[in-house]
Amino acid sequence: MDVWNGAVKHRPAAVVRPASAEEVARAVIERGDLELSVRAGGHDPAGRAVRDGGLVLDLRDLGSVQVDADRRIARVGGGTLSSAVATATAKYGLAAAAGNVGSVGFTALSLGGGYGPLSGNYGLAVDNIVGAQVVLADGRIVETDETHEPELFWAIRGGGGNFGVVTELRVRLHPVEQLTVGVFFFAWEEAENLFPAVAAFMQQAPPALTTQPGVFSTPSGEPGLFVQAAWSGDPNEGRAVIDSLAGLGTLTSSQVTEMGYADLMALYESLTPAGRYVAMRTRTVKEITPAVARALVHAGNTRTTAMSGIPINHLRGPSATRDMSETAFAYRTPHFVIEIAAAWTPDLPGDHAGWTHDLWAELEPHSLPGGYVNIIGPDEKDQADAAFGANTDRLLRAKQAYDPANVFSAISLPRP
Ligand SMILES: Cc1cc2nc3c(=O)[nH]c(=O)nc-3n(C[C@H](O)[C@H](O)[C@H](O)COP(=O)(O)OP(=O)(O)OC[C@H]3O[C@@H](n4cnc5c(N)ncnc54)[C@H](O)[C@@H]3O)c2cc1C
Repeated sequence: MDVWNGAVKHRPAAVVRPASAEEVARAVIERGDLELSVRAGGHDPAGRAVRDGGLVLDLRDLGSVQVDADRRIARVGGGTLSSAVATATAKYGLAAAAGNVGSVGFTALSLGGGYGPLSGNYGLAVDNIVGAQVVLADGRIVETDETHEPELFWAIRGGGGNFGVVTELRVRLHPVEQLTVGVFFFAWEEAENLFPAVAAFMQQAPPALTTQPGVFSTPSGEPGLFVQAAWSGDPNEGRAVIDSLAGLGTLTSSQVTEMGYADLMALYESLTPAGRYVAMRTRTVKEITPAVARALVHAGNTRTTAMSGIPINHLRGPSATRDMSETAFAYRTPHFVIEIAAAWTPDLPGDHAGWTHDLWAELEPHSLPGGYVNIIGPDEKDQADAAFGANTDRLLRAKQAYDPANVFSAISLPRP
């Protein structure tokens, strides 16, 4: 069964495609000796949606989105793609906080964190979850929120699909008609100085602006300092703010457009096609210091393919001021998530994974312990151990309470 990362060659023993929570429960109860995994958007870079020799619950038929526009709440089926959520909510002038790429599963993105163009204004996707329906290891179907099974609700918000199959999320929606989106490439020669300058701009810009810089290829295949800025506030004010960002350095290309959130997701989906071979690692830093900028530029210059890139997500605003103990998601101070993504096709020789390792190692002394759980791979055990900080013991107690036999495994939990 294919997943987004073409390098993953896991072969399941069986696949079931449930269309209801009851069918999920039946598959969980009747799993026999087979180890389970859950597939939604299939974008986990490590391919954990498909267990080698296991039973895959393919949730893509649980893909409905019901919008309660008056209460500004959506009920989202556990296998729904982010694009479907954006399209369904846009009909009401509303949006759910999600990521950039439409084909990413909404549930797993949200359970692990969920950085995206609305984060500055409306927080991470995980902080917009108001309730969930979960199928537990014994086949029980439970509803969870702040008052029902509150410990389960705490744990899934950051701890991912490690406690049961999430068959529905209930999420808060926000008024978003159009985004003003600026997409820029700055001259690469200026990148070392510009990375810290762009980061400083991001930290003080109005919350309605969420900026995602990174290293990507220009159309000629050379490395470029790419910046995407998405404005989700008053449309009359966005252009001026984006223009001041564009004025920070020498532009080699520039485009500012109004677009719906679903259009933005479609754009990035087209730039990240399924089937390429991918190796991914991540670091989380508090600041883009000159040393971090130097490491990014060096990595840009030493990429092994033009398809490889280093997107950076920024967190500030409502999700960066919550108390760490409120949910299992632990990074509650402003930070930057650096994603190091090597992408190649099998005919391209080179030590592609080694390139991700080199930058990851170089950034270690500048990074917070742990990192973004949706990207940390199963082999980065030390990072996974540190990713929940002071929430670790409580998270492991919740795992023990809800899934002591480890029927469900998704993102890596810390080792006991
Ligand atoms: C191209 C690309 C772009 C990305 N963009 C962003 C972004 O903008 N912001 C961001 O924060 N992250 C982003 N991510 C990371 C992404 O959020 C995670 O990889 C996420 O886990 C993918 O979810 P999925 O359903 O597509 O993947 P899958 O591989 O299907 O699932 C991921 C994991 O979650 C489990 N799972 C999935 N659904 C459920 C469920 N309903 N119940 C229980 N367990 C479940 C699976 O078993 C698996 O372990 C991106 C990843 C890629 C590859």
